[in-house]
Amino acid sequence: MYLKMAKRVLRETDKRLLWKFLITMGIKGSLSVIRYRRRLRRGQFFPPFLYISVINSCNLRCQGCWVDVSARQERISREAMRKLIREARAMGNVFFGIVGGEPFMHPELLDIFADHPDCYFQVFTNGHFIDDPTAARLRELGNVTPLISVEGNEIVSDQRRGRKGVLSRTMQGLHNCLKHRLLTGVCTSVCQTNIDDLLTEQWIDRLIEMGVFYTWFHVYRPMGPQAAPELCLTREQQRRVRQFVVEMRARKPIAIIDAYHDGEGRALCPAATGISHHINPWGGIEPCPIIQFATESIYDEGTLGEKFLNSRFLAAFRRLAQSTTRGCIVLERPDLLRELIEREGARDATARQTALQELAAMQIRESRYQPGDEIPEKSWLYRLLKRFFYNDFGLYAPYDHSTTSAPAVLAGEAPRAAHPLPVLQPTPSEAS
Ligand code: SF4
Repeated sequence: MYLKMAKRVLRETDKRLLWKFLITMGIKGSLSVIRYRRRLRRGQFFPPFLYISVINSCNLRCQGCWVDVSARQERISREAMRKLIREARAMGNVFFGIVGGEPFMHPELLDIFADHPDCYFQVFTNGHFIDDPTAARLRELGNVTPLISVEGNEIVSDQRRGRKGVLSRTMQGLHNCLKHRLLTGVCTSVCQTNIDDLLTEQWIDRLIEMGVFYTWFHVYRPMGPQAAPELCLTREQQRRVRQFVVEMRARKPIAIIDAYHDGEGRALCPAATGISHHINPWGGIEPCPIIQFATESIYDEGTLGEKFLNSRFLAAFRRLAQSTTRGCIVLERPDLLRELIEREGARDATARQTALQELAAMQIRESRYQPGDEIPEKSWLYRLLKRFFYNDFGLYAPYDHSTTSAPAVLAGEAPRAAHPLPVLQPTPSEAS
């Protein structure tokens, strides 16, 4: 597999774009994780992987979408992004995940990328607005990787995304990116209606054939006003996703990302470890995109570094998530999350102002945390990279999840009663 991958990299990439990726995302990105680890040793958290929703608007209406896409448009301006990125750079960050809504509906998006040639941007997009000139401009800039979401065949795509003709427009955007030799990825939110079509070797082979360099299989989350919980994967299906990813990584010349497991196959949550957090279109600083509650904003006084390092809410969230489960606390213990949000006085950061009710209505369900059933990486390369740059950094070690995680609660082995919320010790900056 490694030789085939090396051949693809040498034959199919634009070498200027490849060089930019290796230096900025590869080397400088790794250094930002090393700085994150150093801060951890001082009990301080600043995420090297920041996800920024630059706009709420979108042309689609997906099932399970938590973004207020039909609310009045809100976007983070070019000026505000300059300040945000400058302050994150001061903390050593170079990588920024750009999400939405649909980011390419932001009129200043390409200018924002051009303002920061020393940074690398991964854009989560439906591909509908990536026409030929836009793809050509992205190639000129060289610091952007589009990650295009494909949610099923024609029929399923229209169903999942609430519009007609979705897949053909997405594939046109994908074609434009590949024609201009952008380092392009394809992602899927795996659910009941697309698992049999897209979690297949045939689909992986098709992506390679098209020239796609990486893929990402997210697991569907039943969020927002149209949660469609019936689309959620079962425990066995979540295990099938993990098994498939491990197999394909060891055999196929394409990179497969996942943010939910270390090299030994142990589950983890990137928000619980604080390696990534989210900023919403209104500037609210949130634990992750689907936990739409905040106590700080990028528009508040102070630097971004100070806001993250001193956020009592984020610290309380991380402690709760670390002490409750290695899986997704939103899926597994929405009850505890709601208690924490109310205790910390975190405000509902949505335009619809129904996020707390939605959380209250969520049932406890299993996520990928299946203690004793871990599936380790087969590929030594993924094991190595995760060993140094992506694991739990020992943050779950102090905790026993046998009475707090969903498998225990659902098996009736543990009371649903309130789990004592962690009492916070003042952070070093508070102590000083
Ligand atoms: S809380 Fe759940 S959705 Fe959020 S980062 Fe953790 S695992 Fe992912």
